[in-house]
Amino acid sequence: MPKRNALAIGIDLGTTYSCVAVCQHDKVEIIANDQGNRTTPSYVAFTNTEHLVGDPAKSQASLNPQNTVFAAKRLIGRKYEDPTVQEDIKHWPFTVVNHDGKLKVQVSHKGKQRSFYPEEISAMVLGKMKQTAEAYLGCSISQAIVTVPAYFNDAQRQATIDAGAIAGLQILKILNEPTAAAIAYGLDARNHRAGRQNILIFDLGGGTFDVSILTAEDGIFEAKATSGDTHLGGEDFDKRLMEHLAEEFRRKHKKDIRQDKKAMQRLKIASERAKCILSSCNAASISIDSLYQGVDFHMTITRARFEDLCADLFRATLKPLERALKDAKMSKCEIKDIVLVGGSTRIPKIQKLLKDFFNGKELCKGINPDEAVAYGAAIQAAILTGNRTSKMQNMFLLDVTPLSLGINTQGGVMATIIKRNSPVPTKETMEFTTTEDDQDTILFMVYEGERALTKHNHLLGTFTLKGILPAPCGVPVIAVTFSIDENNILMVSAKDMETGNTSQLTISDTRGRLGKEEIERIVQQAEEFRVNDTSQQEKIEAMNSLESCTLELKRAAEEQVLDVQAKRRMLEMCKSATSWLEGNPLAEKEECEQRQKDLEKAWDSICTSLIPRQRAEEGILGEDQNVADAGKDEHMEEME
Ligand code: AMP
Repeated sequence: MPKRNALAIGIDLGTTYSCVAVCQHDKVEIIANDQGNRTTPSYVAFTNTEHLVGDPAKSQASLNPQNTVFAAKRLIGRKYEDPTVQEDIKHWPFTVVNHDGKLKVQVSHKGKQRSFYPEEISAMVLGKMKQTAEAYLGCSISQAIVTVPAYFNDAQRQATIDAGAIAGLQILKILNEPTAAAIAYGLDARNHRAGRQNILIFDLGGGTFDVSILTAEDGIFEAKATSGDTHLGGEDFDKRLMEHLAEEFRRKHKKDIRQDKKAMQRLKIASERAKCILSSCNAASISIDSLYQGVDFHMTITRARFEDLCADLFRATLKPLERALKDAKMSKCEIKDIVLVGGSTRIPKIQKLLKDFFNGKELCKGINPDEAVAYGAAIQAAILTGNRTSKMQNMFLLDVTPLSLGINTQGGVMATIIKRNSPVPTKETMEFTTTEDDQDTILFMVYEGERALTKHNHLLGTFTLKGILPAPCGVPVIAVTFSIDENNILMVSAKDMETGNTSQLTISDTRGRLGKEEIERIVQQAEEFRVNDTSQQEKIEAMNSLESCTLELKRAAEEQVLDVQAKRRMLEMCKSATSWLEGNPLAEKEECEQRQKDLEKAWDSICTSLIPRQRAEEGILGEDQNVADAGKDEHMEEME
């Protein structure tokens, strides 16, 4: 249960970037991270000394590609053999391994090989967003709404909830991204006009594409249809550009850089940067020093060229658009507003295609497209925790199921129990019977998908109903109930109407979800990470403090009028501390502190021995008597 009146945050956990927002004092605030950025890369990196999340992880990716993990959202809730996983991992510089059918990413951390479930990686990103919010709000946050693409199935949603638990966040609700954008849009002043209107949410982010059609009336949103492509987004455009640049490099320099992971990673970063520039300029220059075998790479790419390279990918957004309209049984002209969501909708060609598709209709860009989803999630969080503002009083939400759900029947035919695009929460019951005389057991196989034969759909799980009393086939009545709660989590049960016997699909056993114990182990491990991170931070601070003390004393010893021996001793101590720091990147905090104390003690004794001399020389030295100020203000104050 949500804690009433406690602050809860909204997190858009994106494939490439994540964003956190909070709704308080009647307004939504997008919270900037410690780098001042309003979105944070969903990147996690492991090095010999530390563990990085967000901007620092992404910026070191080209130097440490094998240990920099991104796109965990593409792995979460999936099995190792999943064809999309197999396709994705071919292109990634980090290693994904099979762990009893589940998958794990394998990295080297502090010199040791370690592996993590995607839930753990996502938990690290969620933890970073939690920290960002806590630093801004000045209090601890334990509840959140996290958004997922409309196409996420049950396993992916469950795994996202698990990631929240590992990060120390209770996920109040898993919200569909387009729905969140619609909520954000619902708060827009323009929406308070009267009447029913159809809204199309066009969400093209870094890795996924969702198109949704919603109807808004008197503050109530109802999703009419969702469609999209789980593998279409900004990263695909980056990849196209990167491949083009690699080919240009080969053509110009007769060298193939494709096998060099580091060079390709640097090229990927440059491609994304150039792509973003091309949204506002007609050309972007790419300049990478010593890209491969000491050869520099410089070239200019025009917007026209970029559009040409990605033409088919851009056009691929139109099919799901048509499908969503068809599913919602609407024509283009019935769409009142077209809302742009996701960073990739900043691309002018995408906007033009969409505008042309809707015969020149203006697009809504009122809310920053990369922030709209977190914005809506924050509003939903406020509603669920009882922090509803006056503007939200009449706001309700109805989500829809992304795929049809049903069971396998005789001949492998799919009996659909809940139709695609049904509003959730929902509950449907259908009656079935036996196919053989005296059949006492029925195996239920639950599927999701739109195909008529279950073999073409996706098996969600199986369960058995036993103890059916002997009867001719077709006589027993078995009521099968599918219910979906507000998190889009599915429960299936079968009840023998004669005996009252009931059996239920235990989703967690069949969906490749992490077990309770496994989650507890991971939570404990995540806590170790937090402790390690804090001690790492303290270590870095102690090293920095020793380094600046060394530099300060070195400068003071050089500038101060000291006797030759004292000066030499001090400079040698500083030199030795500097080389010790250079040779001991893994030095412990206590060692650094001890060395700093020794240095300060030595300096103190030099300063103390200076006093009688300075007194004796007073009046002769004049202005010079303040020279020691440069190094030791505090000591001079004490001396006075
Ligand atoms: P999102 O998941 O909504 O944060 O979108 C992230 C994607 O948007 C990434 O692929 C970014 O490279 C892309 N993106 C961000 N800004 C721009 C821009 N100005 N032009 C084109 N793509 C952008």
